[in-house]
Formats: sequence, structure tokens, C-alpha cells
Amino acid sequence: MIRLYNSLTRTNEELKPINGDLVKMYSCGPTVYMHPHIGNMRAYIFMDTLRRVIKYNGYRVLGCMNITDVGHLTDDADDGEDKMEKSAKRENKSPYEIAKYYTDIFLDNLKMLNIDIPEHITKATEYVPQMIEFIKKLEEKGYTYIIDDGVYFDVSKFKDYGKLSNKNMDEIGVARVEENSQKKHPFDFALWKFVPENHIMKWDSPWGVGCPGWHIECSAMGYDVLGDHFDIHTGGIDHLPIHHENEIAQSNCALGHRVVEIWMHNEFVLVDGGKMGKSLGNCYTLEQLKEKGFDPLAFKLFCLNTNYGKTINFTFDGLKASQSTLENLKKIVAEHKNGSNTIDPDKLKKYKENFLNAVNDNLNTPLALGVLFSMLRSEPKSKQIYDLAIDFDRVFGLKLDEEIKSESQSIPDEIKDLAGKRWQAKQDKDWALADKLRAEVTQKGYQILDTKDGYTIKQL
Ligand code: AMP
Ligand code: ZN
Repeated sequence: MIRLYNSLTRTNEELKPINGDLVKMYSCGPTVYMHPHIGNMRAYIFMDTLRRVIKYNGYRVLGCMNITDVGHLTDDADDGEDKMEKSAKRENKSPYEIAKYYTDIFLDNLKMLNIDIPEHITKATEYVPQMIEFIKKLEEKGYTYIIDDGVYFDVSKFKDYGKLSNKNMDEIGVARVEENSQKKHPFDFALWKFVPENHIMKWDSPWGVGCPGWHIECSAMGYDVLGDHFDIHTGGIDHLPIHHENEIAQSNCALGHRVVEIWMHNEFVLVDGGKMGKSLGNCYTLEQLKEKGFDPLAFKLFCLNTNYGKTINFTFDGLKASQSTLENLKKIVAEHKNGSNTIDPDKLKKYKENFLNAVNDNLNTPLALGVLFSMLRSEPKSKQIYDLAIDFDRVFGLKLDEEIKSESQSIPDEIKDLAGKRWQAKQDKDWALADKLRAEVTQKGYQILDTKDGYTIKQL
């Protein structure tokens, strides 16, 4: 029995799949206008663990994740600039090029983290007709109204509005940027936004040329791919108060009943105890971690060490500890591979049971890792333990059967030494010596790459 924390009911609930052994699940995907950072990737590590736990229990999963490649306004409240077009201007590209560029990077990041990819990855730009149909359903049922800048959802018509985030509906004047004065209620939100002539991404609609609101995307794609009733919906905690509240309103009103059973949210990644922010220069990316010699799976392990529902504080010291834990883990697993001891079947059963209880208790991965560690450490070397560890790795997805991919580990000391001397020469402004040492490293089959705050070494 899998128990999951449902943000909607604020309790742990048993997962009872609507369709027999098939679990249908929707995950809010990224807006592809900038490089995903490690905070974003935690949301997909959480999705990955959830998919893996469900499969580990013998169910099948039908997953859908959107890629928001339609330009949206820079804040949740339908105001500000269009993120995609802003990025396009900055990088001198078209919004379509921007979307393609960052989608590829995102998909590559999923691979680096060995994430179990959802069966359907849906791009918003390919689902605009379905979104228009969805808005039409809402319009026919009387949930919409039109003002100068678009078609809006009337939250006062949905009695459950605010339930997910415990919003007080009388709370007028809530600080949600400059209020659109024509809106009937501050929480009303855009389903379709009219855009100016010079807007690049725009579509025809029964209401006029424009682009879909952000929230409608997920409701329409979820309905198209998963149908009108599905088991789980995931996303980061920041999406709970507005995006998911609005998704519930749209979907339940258009389809006439509750659409999603369990709403789940991952908590945020902080960096050095504070918020991640572009201006703070701490929106680290997986590629940057790799450049510094870390295995992206060490970051995954770092995340798995804390429950997805708790805030996690990222530090490089913490990541270093995870990298060495991962290295040790792989080493002990490999040692068990050729072990010849026989383990008491009851003991093996107990480990499996403890592991299953942990992951089925709202994805308690820290406890499940504890079961794995104590088993590997306390049992004599045995192929049976190896097999069970690899079985547990169906949930972690840490590639425990593979050699560690730490760049730093595979670089010989002699090369590291030469690179260190070259770095010193550079600090001393002895360019001739620095060049000589770099050439020596290259000759031995390695390359020194300078980074913002140091250097890395790569095998040629
Ligand atoms: P976005 O592209 O902004 O929609 O973000 C993609 C996903 O990352 C969403 O599920 C967000 O909730 C999540 N997210 C954004 N920032 C963080 C963070 N610092 N920690 C954890 N998750 C985050
Ligand atoms: Zn969404």
C-alpha cells in the first residue's frame, strides 16, 4: 500500500488507482526560456522517485509532463513582460529558437539525472486548439467573461476556489501586483490574453488573436492525454497557491467533477541557506556542477537524502559529501557482486520489507537509503545482497551497478599536479610557464579548461 501526502486534503492518503493497475499522473514541466537550475531539477527528481516507487509496487504509469514553450507573462498574475519574448530579445533569437534551445538542455538534464521520463512530453505550442476547446467549454457553462485584455475565469462561480491553498476569498486587495481594474475579483485569471500586433507567438481564437493563459495549458493537456479523471498531479510548492488553484478551478468546472485525486508538491532548494536568484549568482546548473567535477547523480543522491516535502539547503560541502557517499556506495555494491556468502532468506525478506515500507510511506527516501546502507555494511559479501541493492536502485535510479563517473577521480595525480602548477603560474602572471605546463598536460592527453572561478581538467 502506497501512502502519499495530498496537499488538497493535507493528509497522507492511500493511492487507489482509478484504472486498475494503471496510475495516471501529470507533472508541471518547465518554462523553457532559461537554463534549468538545480532547484528546478529537484521537482523532476521528485517526479522520478514517485514514478519509480509506483512501478516498484507493480503498477504501470501513464505520465504526462508539459513543456511551456508559449510565452507567458513574467508573473503568475497575468502581468509583466512575456518571458519567452524577453529572452528572445536578449539573446537575439526568435522565441521558437529560444524554446527549442532550452527544451533540449532540459531533456539533457533529465538524462544526466537518470530520470524516468514520462510517456508523454507535451509542448504547449502543439496544443493550442485543445486549449481553445477547453476555454469554450468554460464559456458555454458561464464561467468566463471578456475584458479589454482577454478572456477571464470568474472565480466567484466556483465554490471550492481557494481550498487547495486555504485562501480567504474575502481577502480583497491582496498584494498581487497592479490589479487589472476591469477584473471582477482579484483572483480572477486570464484564460486567453489578447496580444499586440508585434507579438511573435500568437494564435487565432473565437475571441481574437492572442495566446493562451499559462494555467489553461496544464488543464487542457492533462485532459487530452490522461482523460477527465486521473490519480496524481505534481509540481513545485510555488505552483500550489496560484497555478494549481487555478488548474483545479478550470478543470473541475469544465468537466463538471473533481479531476485530480492527489496533489503533490516538492519543497524548494535553498542555496547556502537563502533563496536562489539570478541576481545572486547562485542559480547553479547541473552543467556547472559537472564542470566542477561532480557527478550529476551525486546531486540526485543529495536530494534523496531529504524528503521531497522538506526544504533542502544546497551547499558545496553537502554536495561533496554526497559525491563521496555515492562513490562509497558504488564501491561496496561492486564488492558484493562477487561475494560468495549465502544470506538467510528471512533476512533478505526483512530488508525488502523495510525498504518497501519506507518508500511507500510518502516516499521516505532518506529512510530507504538507510536500509540500503545498513544492509550493505552489515552483511558479508554476497551476490544476493548485490542483487537486492540493484533491486532497490530501481527506486533511486543512481546507477549503482555502474562505475562512478566523477571526472576528478579518473584524472591521474600527475596531471592534477601539473594543472595546479599552471594555475599557480597564472596567479603569478608567469604566462610563459603557464603555457608550457598547459602544453605538457595536452601532450599527455588531457585538457585544462578555465572556468569562472578556477579550472577543470578533461581527458581528450
Ligand atoms: P518553472 O519553469 O519556473 O515552472 O519551474 C519548473 C519547476 O521547478 C516547477 O515545478 C517549480 O515549482 C520548480 N522550482 C522552481 N524553483 C525551485 C527551487 N528553488 N527548488 C525546488 N523547485 C523549484
Ligand atoms: Zn502546470
